[in-house]
Amino acid sequence: MQHQNKPSTDSAVLHAEAGRRWVWLEREHPELAETIAFGRGLVALYIDELPNGGGVPLTVEAAREKLRSGLPLLEGEDLDLDLPGLRHFFARLCAWAHEQPELAATAERLQQGLDADEVRVDDLLADALAREEGALDPVAARLAIDPTILHMMTGFLVSAALMSAARANGPLLVEAAVAWEEPVCPICGGPPLLAELQGSSGERMLRCGGCGTGWRTLANRCAHCGNTDDKTLHSLAAEGREEKYRVDLCDRCHGYLKSVTSFAPTPRELLTIEDAAMLHLDAAARARGYTATPGGAV
Ligand SMILES: [Zn+2]
Ligand SMILES: [Zn+2]
Repeated sequence: MQHQNKPSTDSAVLHAEAGRRWVWLEREHPELAETIAFGRGLVALYIDELPNGGGVPLTVEAAREKLRSGLPLLEGEDLDLDLPGLRHFFARLCAWAHEQPELAATAERLQQGLDADEVRVDDLLADALAREEGALDPVAARLAIDPTILHMMTGFLVSAALMSAARANGPLLVEAAVAWEEPVCPICGGPPLLAELQGSSGERMLRCGGCGTGWRTLANRCAHCGNTDDKTLHSLAAEGREEKYRVDLCDRCHGYLKSVTSFAPTPRELLTIEDAAMLHLDAAARARGYTATPGGAV
């Protein structure tokens, strides 16, 4: 069956890499024990259960035109999502949530609701993808579950859909070869989660928080507002970690973006581990009055 992704060499490599990164994080940041315990199972789900599908019906020429006019590839398109694969992902997600003490009761009720056809994964996905505030509240009320946890669970489902779409449309983005200058992801339109300084050249890539796509940007420009004035751009790092992790700050828009030096692009399934490794930088930037979403995006 299409959605039963067999363990592949790729997934074995990703599991091994994830394991190494978690062990490092545990050693460097013992205060993150709970975050790490939570994230391990979740990252494993994205490695093993990410569905296929999500391609857009665009020719290379149409994709190029769309990107040149500043529109992300997925915008306004009917996605060819792998719905059976996404239902399977959500079932596995509920099983994982059932093992998390703070999510267990909600996960159980949600699973009951799915089994009894009181709620459908396809509808949850459509509501979550529409990003209309409060769209999921009636479902939470009907099932008498915590709306915050339902939002979080459907957020993980949306990530699975977007990550599969990014994987499906990645080659089209490369073939279109458009210099993308927008502050959002060229595939899904999401905001950057972090910047990666890659390779010996230090080329700077932004990585999408929604689908994991990377896109090239100038080394010394605010990813949010495009500011290139050195006098209002600076960065912060933890002592002894300046080479690897830092956070870039902009005094024009008061936005911040975390930045990691990485010789190869971080696999999209593992970005969340790098994000966790920089939680202390999020806190440091916020304490100084900067925000990750100066445009007001979520
Ligand atoms: Zn994206
Ligand atoms: Zn800025």
